[in-house]
Amino acid sequence: TAGASSSAPVAHNAVPPPPKTSGTRASRIAPHSHIKGLGLNAEGFAATDGAGFIGQTAAREACGVVVDLVKSRKFSGRALLLVGPPGTGKTALALAISQELGAKVPFCPMVGSEVYSTEVKKTEVLAEAFRRAIGLRIKETKVVYEGEVTELTPTESENPLSGYGKTVSHVVVGLKTVRGTKQLRLDPSIYEAILKEKIQVGDVIYIEANSGAVKRVGRSDAYASSYDLESETYVPLPKGDVHKQKELVQDVTLGDLDAANARPQGGQDIMSVMGSLVKSGRTEITEKLRREVNRVVKGYVDQGVAEVVPGVVFIDEVHMLDIECFTYLNALLESPMAPTVVLATNRGNALVRGTTDIYAPHGIPVDLLDRCLIVRTTPYEKDAIAKVVQLRANVEGLKLGDGVLDRLAQKGHESSLRYALQLLTPASILATIAGRKQIELEDIDEMGELFLDAKTSADIISQHQDSEAS
Ligand code: ATP
Repeated sequence: TAGASSSAPVAHNAVPPPPKTSGTRASRIAPHSHIKGLGLNAEGFAATDGAGFIGQTAAREACGVVVDLVKSRKFSGRALLLVGPPGTGKTALALAISQELGAKVPFCPMVGSEVYSTEVKKTEVLAEAFRRAIGLRIKETKVVYEGEVTELTPTESENPLSGYGKTVSHVVVGLKTVRGTKQLRLDPSIYEAILKEKIQVGDVIYIEANSGAVKRVGRSDAYASSYDLESETYVPLPKGDVHKQKELVQDVTLGDLDAANARPQGGQDIMSVMGSLVKSGRTEITEKLRREVNRVVKGYVDQGVAEVVPGVVFIDEVHMLDIECFTYLNALLESPMAPTVVLATNRGNALVRGTTDIYAPHGIPVDLLDRCLIVRTTPYEKDAIAKVVQLRANVEGLKLGDGVLDRLAQKGHESSLRYALQLLTPASILATIAGRKQIELEDIDEMGELFLDAKTSADIISQHQDSEAS
């Protein structure tokens, strides 16, 4: 980074690209975009509707208690277990918890069965989800000083190791800027650039520093533009000015850093820089690589450049995990940098996967259950379903004709909220085909002819079996 030469780089890739989040994760969160939090008042009570949440008040209040415990650091080593029928808002609750923990707190949802892959070890999948639920807020303050060199004093010190005498330990540069004279202490690598550029007292130069560390030094004429965060364009630098840029804040997760380090690429942006901190040609994320990433991250935290933001990992259908995963999950819960863990299931007593004879509540081994606070979610009444459907229709910009909301709520009540919500998009397609902007009852009825809800579908099959048996 000290390589300022006569062709000093002018383009400043100051703004790193947004971290790559997986498409599946984004599409999993999209159906919950109306949820903005738990919707609790200052006393922790839930109004019927709040922050996009309808009903489910007891569960929301319980989750509020968990948020308080997490904030006061009294939830470590523990997990929240949400138990309730499909489509009763378990995922929505977990997301709301992450939102209540703060802005930009990472939320990493997964389904228990995801651990079964032919390529990746089961425990690796869990480890990665946990890493993706730990955020890192990187704060970069970029300052550019420009002015006339008034002093250039290399400071030498005895090299304690070799007998070779003195080496330059740092160099003091005086700079007359429009706002007065500044004395900067630069490290020897930057001094090399000064020598190379043949910079002398009286020259007009620029010095660019990122979070206190000098990144570039060069003759001022080479430094023509700077990235402006407000306008998002390169703007000419006012000559002789001290140019201080707004703090750049970049949110990444430890999982992003692991991935970036496993596939090192070149580049100037902070992800690439962070990505090449751990020198390796590895293409796989190993435990060792994770430890090295942790070490580098710790360094950044100690310097005050980065801040760790623990998020929420959500494991739906947790009964799909097997005994090996549960054991590993216990260990992950113990780790000092663990995110808040929310588990969900709709199973009662079940066999713990991977065992032949251990039956336990929700198919979860007792030692993990012991660590869990259990919260129940209950099925919705028709009017609550209607409100959620209306909310989603608003978010998706869909207009509902006379009686449509009532019909959807009825269908949701008979099968599930999820089913009612899922009818919205195809029904809007039917409306568009018919040249209408509004979903009408006939679209819903046509949907009913085309698609079945789960209960009806199962009933038809069992009727068949009955008639075959008789
Ligand atoms: P599953 O366990 O089958 O995944 P779930 O219990 O996690 O189901 P969600 O996915 O959270 O259910 O809910 C289904 C849909 O209904 C989502 O779009 C969710 O945002 C919405 N939803 C559920 N409950 C509420 C609620 N009380 N208020 C507003 N929206 C809700």
